[in-house]
Amino acid sequence: MNRIAILVQLITLAAGVAISGECRGDPVAAPPPVSVVVLVAGNVWDGLADAALGPMEILVRDGRIAAMGRTVERPAGCRVVDLSKHTVTPGFIDCHVHVTMRPEDEGAIWALAPADKAVLGVQALRVLLDRGFTTVRDLCDMDFGGYTTVSLQRAVEKGLVAGPRMIVAAHLVSTSGGHGDARPLVAAQTPVAQNNLADGVDEIRRVVRTEVSRGSQWIKFGATGGFASPADDPAQVPYSQAEIDALVSTARDLGIPCTPHAYGDEGIRRSVMAGVRSVEHGSLASLDTLKLLEARGVFLVPTQIAVVRFARLIDDDAFWTAVNEPAHVRAKYRKHATAILESARNLSNCGVKVALGSDFGTFPLAQNNATEFAELVNNGLSIPRALRAGTSVAAELLMQDDIGILAVGKAADIIAMPGDPFDDITVTERVEFVMKGGVITKDFR
Ligand SMILES: [Zn+2]
Repeated sequence: MNRIAILVQLITLAAGVAISGECRGDPVAAPPPVSVVVLVAGNVWDGLADAALGPMEILVRDGRIAAMGRTVERPAGCRVVDLSKHTVTPGFIDCHVHVTMRPEDEGAIWALAPADKAVLGVQALRVLLDRGFTTVRDLCDMDFGGYTTVSLQRAVEKGLVAGPRMIVAAHLVSTSGGHGDARPLVAAQTPVAQNNLADGVDEIRRVVRTEVSRGSQWIKFGATGGFASPADDPAQVPYSQAEIDALVSTARDLGIPCTPHAYGDEGIRRSVMAGVRSVEHGSLASLDTLKLLEARGVFLVPTQIAVVRFARLIDDDAFWTAVNEPAHVRAKYRKHATAILESARNLSNCGVKVALGSDFGTFPLAQNNATEFAELVNNGLSIPRALRAGTSVAAELLMQDDIGILAVGKAADIIAMPGDPFDDITVTERVEFVMKGGVITKDFR
């Protein structure tokens, strides 16, 4: 190398140091150079095993896990991160979030401008990443004129916004008057354009094709009523078998998987018979229906912190005052509380593939969605099954071969927590170190 080349390299290096040193967070600064990192972990869980594997070192190069073992090579210039007091696991995956939603004022949220919703999304994505969620599936934005969550997903992919990898179903395809019809909530306030309402086979096909053409990677649809929607009941089944068959087959022809919002047995069964990949909530499912899911290999995303807690605390007036839900919501929970609690316990009586989903966005931002791990365990799921629900099983549901497991060749989505989740599952709520794609985004030091 001649002297001019060396000089140019030194100037470039100095400029790089100056930029990263003085302008941290500068949105136009070049991304940091690809680095080599060695994580020295006091304890590792790989996303699969029935117990933690003990101390281990992980070599990360070019965003991927290059080596794992009791010791790994330390290439010149590598950064060594001491996680000797931590348990290191795959980055968490939340399969059911709504990053543009907030519970404080449901009616007003439906009517917010898309840019306002995008700002809420940017805030939520940062919070989720800091909690150790390196991938999320967003299952419905209330932007019924546009595709805000698709834009957010692309912004994260381009590095414009810090957040987990996103997989998006833009809207909840719904019947008129069903769970995704905003009009009962906002009719008195603002007229809302709704691109998600579809009644009858022809409209369903058109809406599914539009959703996919605009960037939806999943189709979510309302196979039953809900608790929050004022005009229906969770046991109601708004779509006929023929309509659900048309929806799922239209999506399948486009290579897109489907997942229904479904509480009651009949809506779940119709969806399973039509060939959905997963079921959201499933909170009123009988044991027979859970076994049908198991037999067909359909995943269940039980969103227990958003549902089971309400049933368990049905007689707790202070709780209901604090959550400030309208009277019709508590009345519906009272009607279905026994079935909800029984169904939650029945997950441990069958082998249905459980993937973690919290329904983030339906509860306040300050409430940690990682409490879903402890909720699953409190309702009878074993700790390994709960942890796999938020890592390897979630990755399988989302068909993401690259994540959810710590193994050589996988993407380096790696987090660390100050304790062993097999001893205390709530340590999943205290993630102190986050690496996404080989880039450290949170560090406790
Ligand atoms: Zn939801």
